[in-house]
Amino acid sequence: DSIFELRGVTKYFEDTCALSDINLNIRNGEFLTLLGPSGCGKTTILRLLSGFETPSSGDVLLNGQVMNDVPPEKRKVNTVFQNYALFPHMTVRDNVAFGLKMAGVDKGDIAQRVREALAMAHMDHLADRRPGQLSGGQQQRVAIARAVVNNPLVLLLDEPFSALDFKLRKAMQLEIKQLQRKLGITFVFVTHDQEEAFAMSDRVVVMNEGQIVQIGSPKEIYEEPASLYVARFVGDINILDATILSSSGNGMYDAEVEGVPMALHSKRAFPENRDVKVLLRPEDLRVHRVAEGMLDEPHLLGRIAQTVYKGATVDLHVQLDDAHGGISLMASEFFNEDDEEIIYDAGERVAVTWVD
Ligand code: ADP
Ligand code: MG
Repeated sequence: DSIFELRGVTKYFEDTCALSDINLNIRNGEFLTLLGPSGCGKTTILRLLSGFETPSSGDVLLNGQVMNDVPPEKRKVNTVFQNYALFPHMTVRDNVAFGLKMAGVDKGDIAQRVREALAMAHMDHLADRRPGQLSGGQQQRVAIARAVVNNPLVLLLDEPFSALDFKLRKAMQLEIKQLQRKLGITFVFVTHDQEEAFAMSDRVVVMNEGQIVQIGSPKEIYEEPASLYVARFVGDINILDATILSSSGNGMYDAEVEGVPMALHSKRAFPENRDVKVLLRPEDLRVHRVAEGMLDEPHLLGRIAQTVYKGATVDLHVQLDDAHGGISLMASEFFNEDDEEIIYDAGERVAVTWVD
């Protein structure tokens, strides 16, 4: 039940390859986010979906029909742009009504649908204002009302919150997610912000240099990144050198991690004597005072380089001993006022372990 499909789509702008052999199924009714750094091809995908660009090769299908040369106005696909693109001389109401008027919709119908769209965007009380009399967040809401008023099949949103401050951005993320649930239509959202992508999406498409590098739920992408690139892009990550020594069955391996023998677990199959990287999120590391006595479990030794207070959590930066590669690790632990345990001095000797 895919609504949009990109089949082997490549897009060149003169010599620049913006997209290379993109294959993507967008499911009907899902909230899908394209996530990647600036220049990776996110906007180009949206423009291929909306019809503002045609593929150099490959096909764009909407409901199973090839749409490569179908113009934007014949697709029932609307876009919300970063700069809102409202008509400055028109009221909020007239901005939202504009497309329906152009389409020759009956006057009574227009009034009714505009009222509904403005109520949904929580902008009904400001219907007589002009864009210049609204805040950035309010203008964004008008742009969204205008984009949903003619019942599109798919709504495309290209970094719509990048001009908003942090708090408003968070609030709008929740609102847009709720709106998508309520309307039940497909949203394709673009952002370079990993937290924003995770907060809103059913599925995230991670991109790099014109290619899709992983598609999955936020949880899958965070917990099982397909590559070092994805792991780094979606959060802080510690990377340890290890060697698989032998398999002990059920996905368990005897290994040596930064020179210390320990057991590792992996869903992937590895041959013996294979050098690997172990990826650990900061929240999976545990820091212990060495003075408490030696730990039973295998551990890496080092010193506290820095502690960074974050409110609910504290980041502990640990410089491992040269015997463990001399690398820096970052552990993130919950901070509790009564818990003096995790207040460390710079230079303190510590041991690092992790939870699997
Ligand atoms: P993103 O939205 O992820 O930042 P874009 O899709 O805008 O990336 O751009 C992808 C690549 O294609 C970039 O290298 C960009 O410079 C190039 N590009 C995009 N649009 C055009 C255009 N109209 N003409 C030439 N190059 C373009
Ligand atoms: Mg862009």
